[in-house]
Amino acid sequence: MKSTIALATVALISLTGASSAFQEKPATAPSEWEKRVTEAKAITDETKKGEAMVALVREALGSKEVRLSGTAHADQVHPEDNQPAPAVNFDPRMNLKNSYATQARRLETSPAYYFLGKGTPYVVLGPRALDPRSPAFTRMQAEHELFHAKTHVGDPRPVADRELETWTHVFVTSFHEVHPFKQKWAPLVSNYEEADPGERKAALDKLVAYYRTPTPAVDDAGRAIIRTAFDEWLGRRKKDADSSSSMLVHDLEKALAPSAPDKD
Ligand SMILES: [Zn+2]
Repeated sequence: MKSTIALATVALISLTGASSAFQEKPATAPSEWEKRVTEAKAITDETKKGEAMVALVREALGSKEVRLSGTAHADQVHPEDNQPAPAVNFDPRMNLKNSYATQARRLETSPAYYFLGKGTPYVVLGPRALDPRSPAFTRMQAEHELFHAKTHVGDPRPVADRELETWTHVFVTSFHEVHPFKQKWAPLVSNYEEADPGERKAALDKLVAYYRTPTPAVDDAGRAIIRTAFDEWLGRRKKDADSSSSMLVHDLEKALAPSAPDKD
């Protein structure tokens, strides 16, 4: 009984930890996915647990190559245990390890991790990339790190510029399926604030273009749903003390105001 309670607590902490940066409200409707993620994370046999979790990651990522990380390095996420990008590695023990760097950091709270080994990019997802709310969050985490791996090897721009570019990409590729969960997209807002003005302009242009023609909606009705969700997200950001005076909220409002479509 004691261990059941402990596991339930761990699952709860992991859920809160993984989503607090993005989420405004807790999830409501329980789903089949939620049940399976919770069950996989509660398996006590480490091997079976890893296999159950990687199967869910494979399901979430569809056609992408997903590989279970090796176990040669117990304390560090290491190139020898992983396959280079565009393969996606899943390491069930990622949160117990350090990053692959001279000044290593604990990956305790990270859902996903991107690193370079001798100039080669690697993408690793951990258990926190499996969000009980939806497999869309696993796709979002993979999309984020794969974008870094594809675009930022040897890129000398500051972190905020690269993160803004990445979060903008993730927004325009994931918003259509994660908007029901009402994320704040706080890293998008904060990196916009810190990025170079030229990078801000590029990000704003992409977000505005997405608003005008949201993909992958194929018809007017589909586009209207995404645009309404975008408006609602922006509306919530205006009311949120953390972002109400942010540059991104201000710039988006200005850019979308003069000819805001679909307003009767
Ligand atoms: Zn990043």
